[in-house]
Amino acid sequence: MSQERTEGVVMRGVDFSETSRIVTFLCPARGRLTCIAKGVRRRKSALAPVLDTLNRVELGYYWKENRAVQTLSDATLLDGFSGIKSNLEKAVHAAFPLEVAYKTARDNEPSHELYAALVRGLEGFARFEGDVKAYTCWHVLRLLTAAGFAPAIDMCAKCGAPVGQRPGFVYDGGTTCGACRGDVRLSPRDYDVLRALLENSQSCPEATDVSAVFAVLHRYASRQLDTQFRSLRVIEEMVG
Ligand SMILES: [Zn+2]
Repeated sequence: MSQERTEGVVMRGVDFSETSRIVTFLCPARGRLTCIAKGVRRRKSALAPVLDTLNRVELGYYWKENRAVQTLSDATLLDGFSGIKSNLEKAVHAAFPLEVAYKTARDNEPSHELYAALVRGLEGFARFEGDVKAYTCWHVLRLLTAAGFAPAIDMCAKCGAPVGQRPGFVYDGGTTCGACRGDVRLSPRDYDVLRALLENSQSCPEATDVSAVFAVLHRYASRQLDTQFRSLRVIEEMVG
């Protein structure tokens, strides 16, 4: 057993026993890292607010090979992303990229690119003043790209031809040309929005009215990662 330190983002926490909590972090070198935080559910625990979901923290833990749950020794807050948590619409939407990160990361697998995409996206979101849904699409596309799941955008995912004037989209791979049958047709305007969101890797481009693109991305991510996203149900129920 060795003691290690790293920074990480709190992706999920589940209460365990009377006093403990199982917390899952995304870390650059360890990927998805699950730790037991003992005593954190006791009243007045100083650690409890540090381990709030979404927080970027520095953590220490005892690492033991082949153990599914490591033991947390301490954690300090680096960034609580108050610009996200103080805004209900942002807080609800941020759960989607967080869930994408959770589901693309692997236990004990270096995830430097995914981690950087998650943190940079959250930092930008805290300051962002434009369309929250557009930003969420952009952030999810950054994470999917970092994890190797970027959709096809210029060439048809089915036949490889240029996408052309009648774009469509297939959840197995990305955009399609007019000759191939996709799962859904995209308006040329929505295609342009999706393309701008995908291709601007440095910052979220200006975009509004992205409901159709958001729905396509949601289904695409579900198919690619073979999962249902709980966060999307919450988004629909709380902010539509
Ligand atoms: Zn085609």
